[in-house]
Amino acid sequence: MDDSTDTQHDTVASVPWILSETDRLGQQLATTDAQRLFLGLDFDGTLAPHVDEPSAAEPTAENQELLRTLSRQAGVDIAVISGRALDDVRDRVGIDGVEYAGNHGLELDGASPLSDPDATRAQIRTVCDRLETEIDHEDCAIENKGITATVHYRRVDDEESKARIRSIVETVVEDDASDLRCTRGANIVEIRPAIDWDKGEAVQWFVDRRSDACLPMYIGDDTTDEDVFRAIAPDGIGVHVGTDGTAATYRVADVEAVTAVLQWLADAGVDELVGENNSNP
Ligand SMILES: [Mg+2]
Repeated sequence: MDDSTDTQHDTVASVPWILSETDRLGQQLATTDAQRLFLGLDFDGTLAPHVDEPSAAEPTAENQELLRTLSRQAGVDIAVISGRALDDVRDRVGIDGVEYAGNHGLELDGASPLSDPDATRAQIRTVCDRLETEIDHEDCAIENKGITATVHYRRVDDEESKARIRSIVETVVEDDASDLRCTRGANIVEIRPAIDWDKGEAVQWFVDRRSDACLPMYIGDDTTDEDVFRAIAPDGIGVHVGTDGTAATYRVADVEAVTAVLQWLADAGVDELVGENNSNP
């Protein structure tokens, strides 16, 4: 690497591309004490390309087929953990042998980190109703996702209106719902329960339910996926999709490169972990 590398390039270079490191990764899988691989994946931007209209997002045919193949392989358990509502992400992936979590891991199948999910749903409904009345901007969309809500203002074109929307949302949540809190994202405000639970806790929840020791691997492109990368470090395998700074151990460029990782796992990676020639107990 020459001296002209910029900061962005350095950030990319400090986290290796996983597809260049499959020998090292294969070695890690062959020598782990774990008996199974737990493979967690984000949905949008990981299995499915980002699209302007979130309701149109779907996994690529290749990613869907490889997940199906992997879900039938011995030695690997798969979960898709999305910011979408649980039913939404389950329907979009549509594979029975895969587990799902929605709302950034707050919405689990048959369990909940919330003390009273129905009360949370009622609070979210109240806040959404009030926001529908108070935000009178046609390009702002309020999405009720059950135990969370997202206020989208990507299509609002002036900064003053965006700031006003953010302020209304934060004021309404502060006034009406002390058990909720707001977090700002790219042209969105998320409204969610004020509890200490993120995608990292959700992945740990999936791993802890296994009777066999699992090696966690997680692939995702979101800021919320960074919680997982930190949670599974240093032994787990974190894979950031994209070129941002990340706490992951590896990175891939895009959704197509995720396909190549899944293909490698299906062809060789999982066999390294469960194969007869490794040193696993
Ligand atoms: Mg994503």
